[in-house]
Amino acid sequence: MSSTSNATGPLALSTSGSVATHCPYCALQCAQTLTPAPGGPTPVSVDGRAFPTNRGGLCQKGWTSAEVLSVQDRITMPQIREGDGFREASWREALDTIEFRLRGIQAVSGKDAIAVFGGGGLTNEKAYALGKFARVVLQTPYIDYNGRFCMSSAAAASNRAFGVDRGLGFPLADLNGAGAVLIMGSNMSVTMPPFVQHLSGVRERGGLIVVDPRKSATAQLADGGKGMHLQISPGTDMVVLLAILHVLIHEGLVDESYLAEHTNGWDDVKTSVAAWWPERAEIECGVDADALRQAALVLAAASPHQGGPGAYILTGRGMEQMSQGTAAVTAAINLALALGLPGRVGSGFGPVTGQGNGQGGREHGQKADQLPGYRSISDPAVREYVAGVWGVPADHLPGPGIPAVQLLKKLGAPGGPRALLVHGSNVVVSAPNADDVRKALARLSFLVVCDMVPSETALLADVILPVTQWAEEDGTMTNLEGRVIRRRTAVAAPGEARSELWILNRLAARLGYPTGFSTDPQEVFAELALASKGGPADYSGISYERLDAGEEIFWPCPESDGEPHPGTPRMFLDGFNTPDGRARMVPVDHHGPADDVRPDAPVYLITGRVLQHYQSGAQTRRVDSLNAAQPSPYVEMHPLLAERLGLEPGAMVELESARGVIQARAVVSDTIRHDTVFMPFHWAGAGSANRLTNDVTDPTSGMPEYKVCAVAVRPATRIGATA
Ligand code: SF4
Repeated sequence: MSSTSNATGPLALSTSGSVATHCPYCALQCAQTLTPAPGGPTPVSVDGRAFPTNRGGLCQKGWTSAEVLSVQDRITMPQIREGDGFREASWREALDTIEFRLRGIQAVSGKDAIAVFGGGGLTNEKAYALGKFARVVLQTPYIDYNGRFCMSSAAAASNRAFGVDRGLGFPLADLNGAGAVLIMGSNMSVTMPPFVQHLSGVRERGGLIVVDPRKSATAQLADGGKGMHLQISPGTDMVVLLAILHVLIHEGLVDESYLAEHTNGWDDVKTSVAAWWPERAEIECGVDADALRQAALVLAAASPHQGGPGAYILTGRGMEQMSQGTAAVTAAINLALALGLPGRVGSGFGPVTGQGNGQGGREHGQKADQLPGYRSISDPAVREYVAGVWGVPADHLPGPGIPAVQLLKKLGAPGGPRALLVHGSNVVVSAPNADDVRKALARLSFLVVCDMVPSETALLADVILPVTQWAEEDGTMTNLEGRVIRRRTAVAAPGEARSELWILNRLAARLGYPTGFSTDPQEVFAELALASKGGPADYSGISYERLDAGEEIFWPCPESDGEPHPGTPRMFLDGFNTPDGRARMVPVDHHGPADDVRPDAPVYLITGRVLQHYQSGAQTRRVDSLNAAQPSPYVEMHPLLAERLGLEPGAMVELESARGVIQARAVVSDTIRHDTVFMPFHWAGAGSANRLTNDVTDPTSGMPEYKVCAVAVRPATRIGATA
C-alpha cells in the first residue's frame, strides 16, 4: 500500500494526475488517492491516503472500488422500457418521456401524485438539489430517502435530547484515549474495519464493552482481557442500558453535579430505572446480572467525574433498527448524561453512521419533514427564509411528507402517488418486507430510476437514467464525525452517464424552472451553505476554497464577518443546542420486539452486513473478488439448532416469517445464540433477507424494525417442518 503524505486532503490534482478523494461506500469515508490508469483493468488505480479516520487504511471494498466504474453491465445510455426489456434512448427522448408523463400525471391527479426517493450515498449537493427539486418544481410533499432506514432513530433521539443530531459529535481519534467504550449493536470490525484502530487504546486498558446477540468480530475484540461481550437476547439492548443506569444509581456513581448543571428530567429518569435491577434485567436480556454490574463499574471508573481517562457510548443499527429505536437510543443518551460524558473533551456519546453520506444526506432537505440546515419544513420562519433563497414565495412550498416505509406503502394506492423518481436507492432489496415494496412499485403508473447499474429496482423502471459514480464527480460528503470532505473527479464518466445535478437541471427547465438548478457542484454548495445559514447544521462558513486549502471543518460552521469560523470538532462544549442549553432526559421503558417468537415462529432472525458487501449489494455484488469471497446469502445458526433440525453446514435451510419465505445455505457457528439466526441482507431473490423483515416502524422516527423478527426454521427439503 502506498499513501500520499497529506493528512486532510488539500491536494486536488497532483502532477501525476492523481486525485485526493474518499471511498464511495461507508460513512468512515476513508481517504483515497485515485490515479487515472488508461488501458488498465480499471479506469483508475486506488491507494489509501493518510487521513485522521483511516490512517491510510482501506477495507476490501475500498481497495476494489475502482472495479465498479467499469462493470460489464454499467448503464451508459438512458434506457426506456419496451415490453419486458429496455431499449437505449437519447437523453432528449428520455427527458421528453419523463416530462410528458410527469405533466400528465400531475394534470390529472395533482401535485401529490409524484413522489421522490433519495439516498444516503448522494453528495450533499445532490441531496440538496433533490429536496429543492421536489419542493420547488414538483411541489410534492412526498420525498424521503433510504437514510430513514439507517439513522432516523438515532437522529430523533439526539434531536430530542441535545437539540441537534451530528453523528459522533467528536473526532474519531478521540476514542484512543478512553478508558471505556460501550458499543451497542455495531459491528464496525466488519462494516468499517479501519475504525478499529481507534479502539486500540481502550482495548489495552481492558475497557471495551460490546453488546450484541452474536459474538461478532467486534465482540471478539473484547477477548483476552480487552473487555466484555454482553451477548443479549435480540431486541433487548435497552434493558442492558436501563440496568447499568440502575446499578450506577445504586452504587452512587452518577455525576450528580453534571446532571444538576447540564440536564433536565433526571428525577423522572432516575425513577424510571428503579425497576430494572440486574437480576430482573438478566431474565429479560439473558446477560448475567454480575456482568451487568461489572459493565457499570467499568464505565463509571473511566468517566471524568470518577477521575477516569474518559468514556464513550456508541450506538449502531443493531439497537436502532427497532420499533423502539428512538427509546433505545434515548436510554443510551440518558446513561451517557448520567455519567457526565457529552460535552466533555475525551468523553462522549454518538451513533456510528452507516451510509457514505448518511450524515450529510439528512441535513440538506431530502428528509420528508426537513428543509436545508436540518430545519423543520413546518416552521414558518424557516419556510420564509429557505423559500427566499430559492426565489419562490413560502406558500409555494408543500408541507411535510411521510417517512419512507409509509411512503412506499402508499405508492399506487388510492389517493397515493402514481409516479416515483428514485435516486441512489435499491428499495426492492434494501427496504423491509421487500415483497410488498415490489408490489407497490408495480402499482405505479410511472417509475424513473437513476442508477449506474441495472439494480433490481432499476429493472422495474419505465425509464432508467445513467448517472456518474464517485470517481467521476465533484462534490462534498459529511462523514460519521460531522466532518465535511471533498469528493473529486479523477476520470470522465463512460458513455452518456450524467450527474444528477445535470438531470435535475434539465428536468427543472422542462417543467418551468429554467434557472435555479446549477450543474456546477461548487455553485450548488454555495447555495446550500446559504440555505443552511442559521440552522442547526449551519454550513454557511464552509466553502470549496477552504476545503481545498486542506482545512479540517466540522459543522456547525457559521459565516463570520471577521476571522473564518473554525468549525466545531467537538459538540456541546458550551452547552446543548436547546433553548436553555440543557440536555433533555426522557424516561423510556422496554417493550420488546413487535414480532416476537411464538410456537409457529420460535427463532429470532437478526440481520446485518458482511465485510465484502455494501447495503443492497448493487455495486459490490458486481466486483469479482468480493463476489467470490461472499457469493450468496446464508443463514448463520448455532450447532445446537442445526443438530435439532438435522442440518449439516452448507445445507439449504428455509426461513418463514409472517411476511415471506426464503431459502439460503446454513453456516453453523457457535458465535450466535442457539435461539437466534443471522442473515446478511445484501442479496435479492430467493435468499433476500428483507423479504422476511418487519416493516412495523418506530412511532417517532419512522425507523422499521429490521433487526429482529420471529421466524420458523426448517430444512429446505422438508417443507412444513419447523424448529
Ligand atoms: Fe473505508 Fe468504509 Fe470504504 Fe471500507 S467501505 S474503505 S471502511 S470508507
